[in-house]
Amino acid sequence: MIQQPGTSGLIFNEPQLWDKSREGRCAMSLPKPDVDRKTLDNSLTGDAPDLPQLSELDVVRHYTRLSQWNFGVDSGMYPLGSCTMKYNPKTNEVQAARQGFAGAHPLAGDEFSQGALKLMYNLEQYLAKITGFDAVTLQPAAGAHGELAGMLMIHAFHAKNGKQRSKIIIPDTAHGTNPASASLCGYESVNIKSGEKGILDPATVAAVMDEDTAGIMVTNPNTLGLFESNIKEIADIVHSKGGLVYGDGANMNAIMGIVKPGKIGIDVLHLNLHKTFSTPHGGGGPGSGPVAVGKTLEPFLPIPRIVKDLDSYKFVTDCPDTIGRIHSFYGHFGIMVRAYAYILSMGGEGLKKASQLAVLNANYVKESLKGTLNLPYDRPCMHECVFNDKLQNEYHITTMDMAKRLLDYGFHPPTVYFPLVVDGAFMVEPTETESKEDIDQFIDAVKAIAKEAQTDPEKLKKAPFITKVTRLDEVGAARKPCLRG
Ligand SMILES: *Cc1c(COP(=O)(O)O)cnc(C)c1O
Repeated sequence: MIQQPGTSGLIFNEPQLWDKSREGRCAMSLPKPDVDRKTLDNSLTGDAPDLPQLSELDVVRHYTRLSQWNFGVDSGMYPLGSCTMKYNPKTNEVQAARQGFAGAHPLAGDEFSQGALKLMYNLEQYLAKITGFDAVTLQPAAGAHGELAGMLMIHAFHAKNGKQRSKIIIPDTAHGTNPASASLCGYESVNIKSGEKGILDPATVAAVMDEDTAGIMVTNPNTLGLFESNIKEIADIVHSKGGLVYGDGANMNAIMGIVKPGKIGIDVLHLNLHKTFSTPHGGGGPGSGPVAVGKTLEPFLPIPRIVKDLDSYKFVTDCPDTIGRIHSFYGHFGIMVRAYAYILSMGGEGLKKASQLAVLNANYVKESLKGTLNLPYDRPCMHECVFNDKLQNEYHITTMDMAKRLLDYGFHPPTVYFPLVVDGAFMVEPTETESKEDIDQFIDAVKAIAKEAQTDPEKLKKAPFITKVTRLDEVGAARKPCLRG
């Protein structure tokens, strides 16, 4: 077997910072004041914040330790399906930190923000080109926020046409945020099942589509990592009854340069810049979820919009049908700089290659682990593949046990128990950035764990063993969260 990265090594413990705190200890040395000390009126200042008093070294060690207790894509393979935890080139960080970008102030006005406006305008053009749509807004703060913006546009479209509708069709392979976004717009979800092959059957859509249905939300590639190949036919059915098609494009990293969603019947699509276009994520943000639309929905885009006027750029707000503002200023600019740097450094061919490699790597994992883990949908996948624990259940071993044990082998676990359509799902997204050697190590680790399931299931149930904390009481943590330090 190939040598595993493993997780043995130094794990430094640390008491709570408040226990380390000593009165007067401080991380900086300021010159002694040469004026008399005056006490401020407490009614103006309030009580001082309860912060620990520490030296600079204490603080550096604290954050360094914290970074080592966690697992990041910079420490090892992070095959979390649906999340696209690929490597994010460091040059993107350098560009976003440039003084001109990092120091730009949103209230500086168009005249003094030409560089930033140009970057955002060009990024919109690139994203429109990559997705095959006519116009893009960069405002939404994340994928789910993009969905909300898109659904508000669909809502505004029906209102403008004189008759609001009450329902939206959502397949069981849609991302969980889809029904939530539809519901925020007042739509009731009509859930439909995907067919035996794990993709939607047009007949299932035709059976529920009617003139009170605003449209359908399709995640494509779907949450099983499969391409909805009937999308065009499904879009025709929905359009024939006056509905619109929402495309969840968070998985665009599988189809860049290969499929243009705007050309296959989708009316509105969001992207996740923090997945496909390489912004570090996983810590809860910030993200960016641009929305691309065709001519039908363009008038409803949020304001402000960026327009190019000869050689200068400006924000405009006089758009009578707009859904209004959905973010302060124009969204998360730093993420846009990273995406722009990524697109320019990759080029069109590079983006296409990234998608091809993401798909190749996922299929390699799928074929290599088939038989070791059960594969509910045995057909070519896109950028991720979904197994489950059916073969291990015989030994009373579950997906959770295997996922925990992977930590001992030095890998972040894949996504577990999602998508919901697969019982005990174990969903792997290797991404295009892992080398064959690293993917082989992962495959070998899963095989070794599957063997342990047969030979030593009792041990496996207690994993992980050599991480900072071992098996956690996850139910307890969710039911009785301890939110104070
Ligand atoms: C991640 C994801 C989302 C949600 O995006 P956030 O940025 O987390 O809000 C929506 N749909 C799909 C398919 C996703 O993978």
